[in-house]
Amino acid sequence: MKDTFILNKAFCCAGFQHRIEAAGKRGIAILVHKTAGGILFLLQSRGIAIEDGSKLAPMPGAPDMKINISFDIGLQYCPWCGRRLQELAEASPRVFDDLSEKHKHCYTGP
Ligand SMILES: [Zn+2]
Repeated sequence: MKDTFILNKAFCCAGFQHRIEAAGKRGIAILVHKTAGGILFLLQSRGIAIEDGSKLAPMPGAPDMKINISFDIGLQYCPWCGRRLQELAEASPRVFDDLSEKHKHCYTGP
């Protein structure tokens, strides 16, 4: 039996909600990060899931090169529907504060 999708009323669209729920997994996700200046939204690409990070180890004979395990870039608008994301944070501050706590372990910035 298939689960029924229920859109969180604090979010703008299903695409945004799915990417928020993907934080820390391999692939593309949206992270919520709290700073002294307020809530930031980041689009993050991960080559491996957070939970698999501890499995990384040097491999004998591997080429000497750098790779990105994760990369993120700031977002001002929802990539799926175009909604200004600060409007969401202002309308539901508690929801996004809670998400920033939940996403702390995924944040790789300063
Ligand atoms: Zn959206």
